Amino acid sequence: MGPSPATTGFQAPMSGGLNSESFLRAIRTTAARLAEHNDAASKGQGPVVQLASTEAISAELRLEHWLTNGMTEDDLDMFLAAYLGRAARLHHPGSVAHQVAVPDVPSAVAELVHGTTNNPMAIFEMGPAAATIELYVVDWMLEKIGWATGPDQPSAGVLTHGGSLANLTALLAARGTMAPDAWHHGVDDGLVVLAPPSCHYSITRAVGIMGLGADAVHPLPVDDREVVDPAGAARALDSLAASGLRPVALVANAPSTATGLHDPLRELGRICAERQVWFHVDAAHGAGVLTSETLRGLLDGIDLADSVTWDAHKTLRTAGLAAAVLLRDGRGFNAAFQHDASYLFYEDQTEGIDLIHRTVECTKAELGLKTYLNLAWRGEAALSRYIGDRYAGATTLFEMVTGRDGFSTPFPPQSNIVCFRYGTDNDVQIAIRRALLTKGDFHLSSAEVKGQRYLRATLMSPHTDQGTFIALLDAVEAAGRTSAVPREG
Ligand SMILES: *Cc1c(COP(=O)(O)O)cnc(C)c1O
Repeated sequence: MGPSPATTGFQAPMSGGLNSESFLRAIRTTAARLAEHNDAASKGQGPVVQLASTEAISAELRLEHWLTNGMTEDDLDMFLAAYLGRAARLHHPGSVAHQVAVPDVPSAVAELVHGTTNNPMAIFEMGPAAATIELYVVDWMLEKIGWATGPDQPSAGVLTHGGSLANLTALLAARGTMAPDAWHHGVDDGLVVLAPPSCHYSITRAVGIMGLGADAVHPLPVDDREVVDPAGAARALDSLAASGLRPVALVANAPSTATGLHDPLRELGRICAERQVWFHVDAAHGAGVLTSETLRGLLDGIDLADSVTWDAHKTLRTAGLAAAVLLRDGRGFNAAFQHDASYLFYEDQTEGIDLIHRTVECTKAELGLKTYLNLAWRGEAALSRYIGDRYAGATTLFEMVTGRDGFSTPFPPQSNIVCFRYGTDNDVQIAIRRALLTKGDFHLSSAEVKGQRYLRATLMSPHTDQGTFIALLDAVEAAGRTSAVPREG
């Protein structure tokens, strides 16, 4: 027989815990490294990102060595220097690829607090402050949408680890409401979800995960910018009934990830309401403009939604992950998750609210804290201005592109996302993106619109300015000229 737990002895506490000098030194070391890193990145020093093989990076970071030998604070400093050397620098002005938040001071502070306290607050008693802040942030979002809050408010929400989970949760609420038996008995054939062809892949995934079959996603008719055509959407809904199919939900983009363009929410909301179809607005990227009186019109009609997805870790400058799923009628959460776990779910008269009833996740991070601190640190108005500036920057970049020989754009931007290209060859756009990434001055993404490949710039960094745009377009042109090798035949 092996040793019983009793005979191994109860160990004394490990030395150097979170209240020790070693903790403070590790934090100071880390803070100093990060400050230096972000300062250089903000000034455009160093590559936006430098790729290498996982073998090379693993050797550079000495992963095997540290695991075997442990680390001192000095080792940590060396490790961080190597780590940050291979980090993507989101504060860099040339970082214009993805819709990922460029963290502000409180974002980092909140992660430190969470990493130290680790309050899994989906159970109120495991983080009363964190849970209270989450509810406050959720109410703030509900009000921004235009839904009433207060003691008897019908609307409700919860923060999730990302927009993909928020979309899944929203569609589960839709399924639970439109087909309540599905939770216990599985889904019948004939349930479908209507969504724009350009919807985020997490929508199709959610439909696959829910067992409807990914083919149950019916593409909504769109115009030549891939924006949903409302009259076509109405016809699509009306023809479903004739073929014996039942819509679980209709999804709209606010805006589309690829193009940054907004679907007509008010018209779609009205069409769904008339037909009693669940209307889900995927505003993962765009909901931040609800803080702005001048830009919130982009989301006109969002209050007609049954559910909304909102990523704080995009334009609200919160580090990944913090997203929200918001329901106009909070009873949708009960429809979404119809079960019990005896050690967590029982009738009890305690304080607070257990948010665990509303989520896919069991353990959940302090997502409200990092979202809230970002709003509070500079104030809501300043955050709103930050978003407005990024959106205005997109118009400036668009105007510079349209005035330049050899460049074209498929449409004017409606957000901080700009699609453009040099020449007309699809492969050349991919070659340009690759060349820029290898050189390290700019990180662009790319998107396909109606079968044509475009470069795609997403303006997130507060350090990206008009000078960056000029240098970017010069670099694209130079790379485009060398990539445009004449084809044979
Ligand atoms: C980013 C995005 C998502 C996915 O959100 P994650 O937080 O990355 O999971 C979903 N929908 C849209 C429209 C998005 O832009």
